[in-house]
Amino acid sequence: MRDTTVLISGASIAGPALAYWLHRHGFTPTVVERATAVREGGYKLDVRGAALDVLDRMDLLEAARAAATDMRTGTIVDAEGKTLAVMDADLTGGRADGDVELMRGDLARILHDATRDDTEYLFGDSIASLTQHPHGVEVTFDSGTTRTFGLVIGADGLHSHTRRLVFGDETPYIRHLGHHIAIHTAPNHLGLDRREMIHPAPGRTALTYSTAGDTNAKAMYLFASPATPYDHRDTAHQKRLLAEAFTGARWEVPTLLAAAQDAPDFYFDSISQVVMDHWSRDRVALVGDAAYGPSPASGQGTSLSLVGAYVLAGELAAADGDHTVGYAAYEQRMRPFAEANQALAENNLKGMVMGSAALIWFQTRMLRLMPRIPGGRRMIARIADGIHRAATAIEIPDYSAAGNLRAGRTASDMNAAAAHNVPATYQARL
Ligand SMILES: Cc1cc2nc3c(=O)[nH]c(=O)nc-3n(C[C@H](O)[C@H](O)[C@H](O)COP(=O)(O)OP(=O)(O)OC[C@H]3O[C@@H](n4cnc5c(N)ncnc54)[C@H](O)[C@@H]3O)c2cc1C
Repeated sequence: MRDTTVLISGASIAGPALAYWLHRHGFTPTVVERATAVREGGYKLDVRGAALDVLDRMDLLEAARAAATDMRTGTIVDAEGKTLAVMDADLTGGRADGDVELMRGDLARILHDATRDDTEYLFGDSIASLTQHPHGVEVTFDSGTTRTFGLVIGADGLHSHTRRLVFGDETPYIRHLGHHIAIHTAPNHLGLDRREMIHPAPGRTALTYSTAGDTNAKAMYLFASPATPYDHRDTAHQKRLLAEAFTGARWEVPTLLAAAQDAPDFYFDSISQVVMDHWSRDRVALVGDAAYGPSPASGQGTSLSLVGAYVLAGELAAADGDHTVGYAAYEQRMRPFAEANQALAENNLKGMVMGSAALIWFQTRMLRLMPRIPGGRRMIARIADGIHRAATAIEIPDYSAAGNLRAGRTASDMNAAAAHNVPATYQARL
């Protein structure tokens, strides 16, 4: 094998999943994470489609199911707190049979537990600079250490530091979807038990929920707004932007906003996607949100991260560690899948944040009436169908044996490889 040492930046979802598969294929992964430990908490997210298959192949699907949020209902309320519609939680989350919803922190912990014995983790550190040489990448860490790795992979999220070091400023790669999002832990002052309360108002939606086993609640806010410059480290400024966006909001919003002030885990960002022509440059590649973040509105970022990690490691192994071949094959297989899932976001957003009182009135009436009319539940299920189609829009090969890999490739793959002018060595391998 050519390049066996791989430095991965980021220990959330894509990073540990990639470390897992690289190790299984005989590489030696090291993961550097800026935080001092696995980041706990976060929000609830769904794992769907092909990503369930990846978790299953890692023998982690049962662990993920055991950590499921077990949410029961989503209730839409008006400004006075009056119930407008009560929905099944799976419907609120657009889940199909078998999809699993769990907290981001729980999934990160499961992935870390599955990799910690075989992977070197460097917490509380970050790549300060990197220099690509013909035979490796020389990396200097913030801690001052310098080491050389065969390959470097950025799994460091939407605002990827690795991407900035190698591809430059993020501006050309970030597609703002016209909204912002904020999330934080809050006291469960409504006594919610596996229930979510959602208050939509024109141009802004606030919600709160509490999952199985959580004594607290989460508050989440989505609001329409143009791209706004803000410092990612200045949470005081971010809280002011949030408060401005929800000025005059009613229901429980003032109480939730007050809780935001003391929240230990305040998160604020634009709802944006990452769109890049190429996901690698020489020996450095990107995976997960760093390369093709679909935005929280797609509900597919985690699934893309898990599948992307699996495919990247598998293609590198199939190429015997030759990154020129492995990176090209990874991109060729993943790109249509990433695009299909990114395409979900804008439509989903229209249902999450509505532009007018009339739209809110219409949507809540429809949600209330649909389950009661003949065929209504089937019409609702079609919403989940679109997500499910995108979530399964990739065939993931079995990379465990070279023979299987060859068998997994179809004639159209081969033609596509030729059309994309994939390096000759790769075509020979096919
Ligand atoms: C509210 C919300 C709801 C969501 N719901 C869903 C859902 O239902 N389904 C779904 O599939 N996805 C969902 N997502 C998206 C999902 O969380 C992301 O797509 C996913 O976490 C991406 O994983 P990642 O590992 O690529 O990046 P991230 O999870 O962003 O992790 C990046 C990691 O890199 C680390 N890092 C950053 N900079 C550095 C540095 N300089 N050096 C070292 N480490 C660094 C960070 O600390 C972090 O640990 C949701 C997101 C949000 C915000």
